[in-house]
Amino acid sequence: MFHGPGDLRSEDLPVPEPAQGELVMHIDAALTCGTDVKTLRRGHPVMIPKVPTVFGHEFAGTVASVGPGVSGFREGDRVVAANSAPCAHCYSCRAGRPNLCEDLLFVNGAYGEFILLPPRLVARNVVPLAASLPAERAAFAEPLACALLATERVKIEAGQTVVVFGHGPLGCLLGMLAASRNARVVMVGKSGWRFDRLKNLGFARWLDATSTDNVAQAIRDVTNGRGAEVTVDATGRPEVWQQAVDAVGRGGSVLFFGGCATGTTISLDTRKTHYEELALFGAFHHTPETIRRAVETLTSGALVPDSLISHRMPLEEVGQALALMAKGEALKVSIRS
Ligand SMILES: [Zn+2]
Ligand SMILES: [Zn+2]
Repeated sequence: MFHGPGDLRSEDLPVPEPAQGELVMHIDAALTCGTDVKTLRRGHPVMIPKVPTVFGHEFAGTVASVGPGVSGFREGDRVVAANSAPCAHCYSCRAGRPNLCEDLLFVNGAYGEFILLPPRLVARNVVPLAASLPAERAAFAEPLACALLATERVKIEAGQTVVVFGHGPLGCLLGMLAASRNARVVMVGKSGWRFDRLKNLGFARWLDATSTDNVAQAIRDVTNGRGAEVTVDATGRPEVWQQAVDAVGRGGSVLFFGGCATGTTISLDTRKTHYEELALFGAFHHTPETIRRAVETLTSGALVPDSLISHRMPLEEVGQALALMAKGEALKVSIRS
């Protein structure tokens, strides 16, 4: 239970009973996420509107019980649920942009034995799993769906250079997606154990941002002076957003994936932006469609995320797991109840 910034407690709660349209899931695997670390430090106005609340948002499991009126799911079905569901009625939903829904319903509670899923989530964002897909891999559906939504904003073609700034789990997922489309992926990060792990993920190149004072130039050096076709920020730091713009080539696309602190800005070279026809894209969250596509991608094995799990820990140790994340000593921790 999350009781507010810095206050995470282990508590015994009754197993939830599903009401009309609801479903109770047994959680077979949950994953830690940088968002949970940030929320634990300072709260989260959107994902956690009130406390105390159950906590954690990346999970997969088995249907434990279904409420009246639920069709399509039965006790014992293996499923993955997204951490939100759009309303389907607002302007953004009707415009086909449900990730921008003005009334996104968020669900938390991945760090527990059971979770109660509300009717809107059951109706729109619970996906059945093939027997061959382990729960731990299925739990990547949510972050992978965010990465899919982002990479679909831009055209990634075989042979293009895609530069990803940031080597956290999402930076890696974005890089792996680009690599699966036969792009030449350059990962930019800071030296250390997480950086060393990248070398096993099959990316074309890694660039240590700490060893150069001009990252954009270093990227031009490896692209015959042209700059990359696509650059992606997965750090959420304005100075890196700036580098992503500087490192993109003529006619290129920049994806702003990492959310920066409120009130921050970057500056744009108007000449370059206009005469070189830069395309700048924000990318936020996921849609029911990208959640389903993420499950397909994981099921087919087109992307195998296992190497992003650095630790496996029991539910009782979720506090320690998040502390490891906060210290930069874990990539993703798989939590089992
Ligand atoms: Zn997450
Ligand atoms: Zn909506």
